[in-house]
Amino acid sequence: MSNAPTRPSRFPLPLAKLGKSGSAAREVLMPQRHLREAALDASRQSAPSGLGLDSGVVRQRMVRRLQQDGLHDERVLQALAGVFRHQFVDSALATQAYEDTSLPIGHGQTISKPSVVGRMIAMLMGGTTAAQQCGLGRVMEIGTGCGYQAAVLAAVAKQVVSIERLKPLHDKAKLNLAAAASANIRLIYGDGRLGFAGAAPFDSIIAAAGGEDLPQAWLDQLAPGGRLVAPMAVPGGRGQVLVVVDHRQEAGVSRFVRSEYEAVLFVPLKSGVM
Ligand code: SAH
Repeated sequence: MSNAPTRPSRFPLPLAKLGKSGSAAREVLMPQRHLREAALDASRQSAPSGLGLDSGVVRQRMVRRLQQDGLHDERVLQALAGVFRHQFVDSALATQAYEDTSLPIGHGQTISKPSVVGRMIAMLMGGTTAAQQCGLGRVMEIGTGCGYQAAVLAAVAKQVVSIERLKPLHDKAKLNLAAAASANIRLIYGDGRLGFAGAAPFDSIIAAAGGEDLPQAWLDQLAPGGRLVAPMAVPGGRGQVLVVVDHRQEAGVSRFVRSEYEAVLFVPLKSGVM
């Protein structure tokens, strides 16, 4: 008996090891096919081995880029890192879900850029009440869209009440958020310009669509000490800016203090439901 060690198999492997009559060999020689299959896997959200879109790695990478670009609130970064953005967009767009870009969600609407979602939530976090220091408290969101921002908000809020005026998007968000299993989100089909008096007052209000004015109902439904963040049109058709309104109350008298920030681009805030 020989003591010589068995030599391990080396590449190139004999054709016989690759399958019957060379057919497997043909597959091995077509890398495009594997790339296509990997992309399909990713868009079916089932890529194995932690390297697909379900992997925390892609979300962490997105969050690191947002951090480098100036988003520093750790609670917001964690919230963004915890939400699977690709599950909120069409599977054909899933591979773009972790880029800092807005994407179409149907019905002429878009999911906001992660950097803008992060920026607005960080602005809400900067409010002064106790509720805001330990999270956003009770939040009203106007413009549920596909439900992505609602899911991020839910990670830093006690409760999120999110309103959408387009029934198909309201229904889509319901499905998306059922998959995300965020228990503290309540979805309302209605005109967000009216707010939602049934659940008011809110510690925080955030709008994902920009109007010419701030609806009175939002100010009425903002709790004392609460903060509102919304895009608003600049008069004269000069685009939109982010507006922050703080509800201050001294000796029982309410004051609304308004500040304006950078230019943004949001879909219009419309009236009524469809
Ligand atoms: N936060 C969303 C962004 C959606 S885009 C997301 O993460 O996907 C803004 C949404 O605001 C659109 O779906 C639009 O239909 C909705 N919208 C516009 N005006 C509205 C109103 N008055 N009430 C409720 N939703 C409104």
